[in-house]
Amino acid sequence: MPKPLKQKKQKKSEKAEKENKASLQSPKGMRDILPIEQPLWEKVKKASQDTANFYNFSKIDTPILEKAEVFERGIGVSTDIVEKEMFVLKTKGGDRLVLRPENTAGIVRAYFENGMSHMPQPTKLYYFGPFFRHEQPQAGRYRQFHQYGFEILGGEDDPVYDAQIILAGIRSLEELKIKNLSLQINSVGCRNCRQVYRRKIQEYYRRFSAKICKDCKRRASVNPLRLLDCKNEKCQPIKEDAPATINYLCAPCRSHFREVLEYLDGLNLPYSLNNFLVRGLDYYNRTVFEIFSESYPGALGGGGRYDYLAELLGVKKSELPAVGVSFGVERIVELMKIMDISGLPKPKAKAFLIQIGKPAKKKAFLLIEEFHKAGIKVIESLGRESLRAQLKVADKEEVEMALILGQREVFEESIIIRDMKNGVQETVPLSKVVDEVRKRL
Ligand code: AMP
Repeated sequence: MPKPLKQKKQKKSEKAEKENKASLQSPKGMRDILPIEQPLWEKVKKASQDTANFYNFSKIDTPILEKAEVFERGIGVSTDIVEKEMFVLKTKGGDRLVLRPENTAGIVRAYFENGMSHMPQPTKLYYFGPFFRHEQPQAGRYRQFHQYGFEILGGEDDPVYDAQIILAGIRSLEELKIKNLSLQINSVGCRNCRQVYRRKIQEYYRRFSAKICKDCKRRASVNPLRLLDCKNEKCQPIKEDAPATINYLCAPCRSHFREVLEYLDGLNLPYSLNNFLVRGLDYYNRTVFEIFSESYPGALGGGGRYDYLAELLGVKKSELPAVGVSFGVERIVELMKIMDISGLPKPKAKAFLIQIGKPAKKKAFLLIEEFHKAGIKVIESLGRESLRAQLKVADKEEVEMALILGQREVFEESIIIRDMKNGVQETVPLSKVVDEVRKRL
C-alpha cells in the first residue's frame, strides 16, 4: 500500500533537517578545540616554546597556504602526501594553492625568500601551527591537525645537529612529564649509496611480485624505499627479510650515522635501530627517526635530515644541510589525558566584583577597568542581580575576596571588601579600592 501523503511529507522534512544539520557540522576530520581542552594545548605550546628558547630556536610562522609546487617538488609526487592527501584549491587568479600538509618545505622556501641564508649559520627555527592532510580520519589521525617542530638549516651537515634536533624533541616531551619515551632511528644514506640500495631492494621484491599488495607493486618501480613503509598484512613477512639500508651505506654516511649515535650515547639517550624506518618523503637523507611513548599506539613525532630539499625545490643549486623534527599535538594532548597530566592552569582571579542595582552595575563596569589598568584580575557576573547568586559564583571561582557594591556604597562612594575565607567584611573608600586589594594580594 502506498504511504499516505502526510507520512511522506514528514519523512522528507526529517531528511532535509538531517541534511541541514550535517551541513552545519565541522568538516570531516576537523574538530573544535573546546575551552575545556585549551589548558592542555597551552601546556604543549609552552613546553615547545620553552624548549625552543633554551636551545635557541627562533619562532617562524609561514602561510597556511603555499603554492602547490612547494610540496610537489619538495616532498615528491610519488608520496602519499602529494599523491592523495593534499587539499588543493585554485584561486580566482588561477594559482594552485595547497593547505600545507607539513612545514619543512615551506620553511626552506621562507629561508631563501627572506635571505636567512645570508645570516650567520646555521639558522634554528621553531614553529607551531595547523596542517592539513586528506586522510581517512581515525584515532590520532585527522584532516586538520597541529604540529610543532624544530629545524636547523644551513651551516655544516654536522651529526651534532641531528643529535641536537632529537634531543630538543625529547626534551620538549619530557618538559610535559611524558614518560616511557622511546626513539627509533635509522639511516637511509645519501644519493650515492641509495642507488645501490634501491637496486638491492628492487631485486629482492622482484621475487615476490605476485605476493605483494597493489601499492607495493607501484612503489617497487616508483619509490622502492617506501616498500618498507607498507602496513599491509600480506607484505609484512616479505618486508621482514628485506635488505636493510644500513648495510648499504657508503663510508661517509656510515661514519655520519655512527657519530649521531655516539652523541646520543654520550647523552645516555636510549635508542633502537629500526631497519624499516625510511619515512617515505623524497627529501630525507641519512638520519631518520621517530619518537614514541609506550602509552600511545602511534608515533608522537619524527624527523630526519633533508640536505636535498633546497635543491629539489629549485631554490639552491647544491645541497643545503638541514635537519628537523615535528610532533603531532593532538596525539600529545591525547597522551596527556591518558597519563593524567594536567594542563596549564588559567590565571586565577583574586577578587570577584559584586554589584546590586543599576547604578552599582554602571560603577562596577567602570571599576573593572581600574583593575585592568593596575594589572589585577577581577572577575564579575554582571548579568546577575542578587547578592546571593553572585556570592555563589564567587565561591565557585575560589577567589580570595569579594568586592561588594550596593546602592548604599554607590551613594557613599565606598565599597565592601569581604574576605571569602572567614567572611570578615570591611568598607573602604571606592577611590582606594585598587590599592586596598593590592595590599591584600
Ligand atoms: P609527519 O609529518 O608525517 O612526519 O608526522 C609527524 C607527526 O605528526 C606524527 O608523528 C604524528 O604525531 C603527527 N601527524 C601526522 N599526520 C597526522 C594526522 N593526520 N593527524 C594527527 N596527527 C598527525
